[in-house]
Amino acid sequence: MQTSISEHLRDTADGKEANRILRACTHCGFCTATCPTYQLLGDERDSPRGRIYLMKQVLEGATPSASTQLHLDRCLTCRMCETTCPSGVEYAKLLDIGRELVDAQVPRPAGARLTRWGLRQVLPYRRRFGLLLALGRLARPLLRGPLTPLRHRIPPRQPTLAEPDRTQLTRRMLVLDGCVQPSATPATNAAAAQVLARFGIELITAPQAGCCGALSRHLSARAEADAFARANIDAWWPHIEAGAEAIVMTASGCGAEVAEYGYILRHDPEYADKAARVSALTRDLSDVLGAEDLRRLGNIGRGRKIAYHPPCTLQNAPALQDRVASILGHAGFQLTAVADRHLCCGSAGSYSILQADISNQLRRDKLAALGAGQPELIVTANIGCQLHLDSASTVPVHHWIELLADAG
Ligand code: SF4
Ligand code: SF4
Repeated sequence: MQTSISEHLRDTADGKEANRILRACTHCGFCTATCPTYQLLGDERDSPRGRIYLMKQVLEGATPSASTQLHLDRCLTCRMCETTCPSGVEYAKLLDIGRELVDAQVPRPAGARLTRWGLRQVLPYRRRFGLLLALGRLARPLLRGPLTPLRHRIPPRQPTLAEPDRTQLTRRMLVLDGCVQPSATPATNAAAAQVLARFGIELITAPQAGCCGALSRHLSARAEADAFARANIDAWWPHIEAGAEAIVMTASGCGAEVAEYGYILRHDPEYADKAARVSALTRDLSDVLGAEDLRRLGNIGRGRKIAYHPPCTLQNAPALQDRVASILGHAGFQLTAVADRHLCCGSAGSYSILQADISNQLRRDKLAALGAGQPELIVTANIGCQLHLDSASTVPVHHWIELLADAG
């Protein structure tokens, strides 16, 4: 499409990048067919094409309004539109730029500012979140009446898994512990360590590595998100130099962010090369395990009926779309058919808190689709989806890797 970026943005890095992305869009509207918010709300401004148009107007000098901000806020950043777009429009990169521009010009009400600040102060910090979760678990029995939904949001404690015997392991990979996962779902990385150990792979963590930065980035706090990226690179670098084969992501949402470090820090002279190397080494757990001889898993599933929810962050990576399902199939699990698997479950980082109504509708639809085949369990590959679905599901929701460890 034709663009005319405003004079004060035209020569900035963001202005040039936004212009490049906008020019690729032909306004064809194919993307609207797979956009969850457009399907739900039916408003062009809640579609990718509509949001692109809103951002174009702002980039061309129009003053954004609270309505512009609302329609951008309602985007899940699920990137399903990118998967559908025949012109390769990099919508998510444009959205990061557009949201920041709009947020700089449209002040949010005090309550919204406080909520967003609070999320950024707690969720990315392992100890702070762990403390809050511990308090929440203590208070859980008292959360009744109108506070019942909050009670359901507090994940129960997971059983501790045995550490694998590391003495015979010849291959070494880093794994990201992240921010929320160590206290909310510690079984995920414990199970990953157990399962990969059977294939001779030792998972190691860099204690200084923490939040991937995605939450801050989606809340328009770019400097903070970039700082998380740099801190992770610093923490991993000695291990990379020592020969770590890969950086394994057990939460696909974090994996999508770390895979972009090379792009995010491309203009940083000190970090650009290291960031590109980190992104190149980043692999989803399903990619790592899927490359091994899966016959060695045996028939541990014994035909148990499982419903799998592929997170958007895996669906957007074509090579990984069916990897988890394939691994579980090899391990003898029977996967039920799930309708509309491309639609987001509504978790989307802090979206489930900031856009609760849309998020809850998407979750309701997703749980209905997942439950249709009457599975014994639901599994997914991202902590956000796992906790969001589990908080309203009558069927237990787990990370898929737990199934392989439990049965081992
Ligand atoms: S983003 Fe892609 S699919 Fe959507 S209107 Fe633009 S070119 Fe068409
Ligand atoms: S990222 Fe998802 S919610 Fe946002 S415009 Fe694209 S398809 Fe719609």
